[in-house]
Amino acid sequence: MPLFANPRNAAAGSVRQLDPRITAKRNLDIYIYMLGYAEGRPMPTTHWETLEYFKTLGFRINPANKRVKQIEEAEAYYQSWTEKRDSLPYEADGVVVKADVMEYHTRLGDVGREPRWAIAYKFPAIQGTTQLKEIGISVGRTGSLNPVALLEPIAIGGVTIERAALHNEDDMRRKDIREGDWVYIQRAGDVIPDVVGPILSKRTGNEKVFSLLDKIYNKEKGRPACPVCGGQVVRPEGEVMYYCSNAACPAQVQGRIEFFVSRGAMDIRGIGEKFIELLLKEGMVKDAADLYSLKDKRDQIVQLEKKGEKSADNIIKSIEKSKSANLPRVLNALGIRHVGEETANLLAGNFTDLEDLGNASREKLMTVPSIGPKIADSIIAFFREEENRKILEKLRTAGVWPRQELAQTGLPLSGQEFVITGTLKSFSRDAAQTRIKELGGTVKDNVTKNTRYLVIGEDPGENKLVRARALGTEQINEEKLLAILGQKN
Ligand SMILES: [Zn+2]
Repeated sequence: MPLFANPRNAAAGSVRQLDPRITAKRNLDIYIYMLGYAEGRPMPTTHWETLEYFKTLGFRINPANKRVKQIEEAEAYYQSWTEKRDSLPYEADGVVVKADVMEYHTRLGDVGREPRWAIAYKFPAIQGTTQLKEIGISVGRTGSLNPVALLEPIAIGGVTIERAALHNEDDMRRKDIREGDWVYIQRAGDVIPDVVGPILSKRTGNEKVFSLLDKIYNKEKGRPACPVCGGQVVRPEGEVMYYCSNAACPAQVQGRIEFFVSRGAMDIRGIGEKFIELLLKEGMVKDAADLYSLKDKRDQIVQLEKKGEKSADNIIKSIEKSKSANLPRVLNALGIRHVGEETANLLAGNFTDLEDLGNASREKLMTVPSIGPKIADSIIAFFREEENRKILEKLRTAGVWPRQELAQTGLPLSGQEFVITGTLKSFSRDAAQTRIKELGGTVKDNVTKNTRYLVIGEDPGENKLVRARALGTEQINEEKLLAILGQKN
């Protein structure tokens, strides 16, 4: 079987296939690292013991695992791998250093999604050199005009690179990167590669100093203009980027829809960049909310380039599925400036739905922890904008309008915090969450001393289990949850 260019994407893509037969054909292999939950035997007290235990069960353990006593030993081990990394039969981007004693894992805890007890010690990023043929401009979902390096294609670490990020004009000036330069390219992980700087010794004198305003100068209009829509270009005070000020700019619309369907947002699978482009071109959607009307356009989807009946049905299915997304997700998906995943979570805990949030005054918004005037103003501006109101109305009509009850008293589960980990069989996590909230309980993401129950589904997260064990939190299975919710089945 030929090798995939990017192993991480290939593995993730294989596991995410809707058809398990395709996954089965991919010939994936795995090393086991973590034990989430054990029944009928105590959990190992060290990480090393866990790995040894896996071995006795017949799982594959990475032969390169090593237990060391001092940080110096860990450093030396890392050094030895920076030299031998190419001898591995797979790609590796670093060494993970972990605390061995399991109790420390709980005590050290996590920062967001990053555990403090396991730290990736990355290998130096992979570099290469090539010629920067031209500097293009891409228009982002916020309208930002981003310079992009169009390169003579070059393979770095098994990936062919044709485009690299240049960030902004000031940054390019500082690095003195010119069109036609030979440049160093750096790739680190899956992110878009960077242009590190020019190779001055290769300059011929024909290189061109880049000016964004010259690049986007529109002769017909006699002024700089958005290269996609011809709209006015502005540079807000104190910012390094220029922006296309036309909210209806097709590049911005495309970017906003791409963001809406992305994983951290509505997580709608099967809709990629190309497909969105086609939908816009055919006039089948004008904004992200229009995706929810696609279920009535099945035949048209089938006719769109390369989309068969099955694929069209899958797309419609995943769009419909996204309707049950919770408030933080929908809020994030709207792409309000300065409101990312974390802020969306904070806001969602304080408002019952989007209408409630949209009606909030600046003062009310600023009572939410870590919401300052900048974010508050941005939220208010978003809800005032006519185009956005139309999108919200469409979402509401489509039933994409999550509501959450704020803390109530006098209900059977009042004051009880639940944390759910793993997949539940009889209902979706969102449905479970809704039911718990209806009964007055709350559902949190992390196990704390306030957690009343940790509900364990299939494939539970190891961090939550370890933490619950350390705190003595009551762990219940799905059946018990159903009993608590009065939904025995
Ligand atoms: Zn534009």
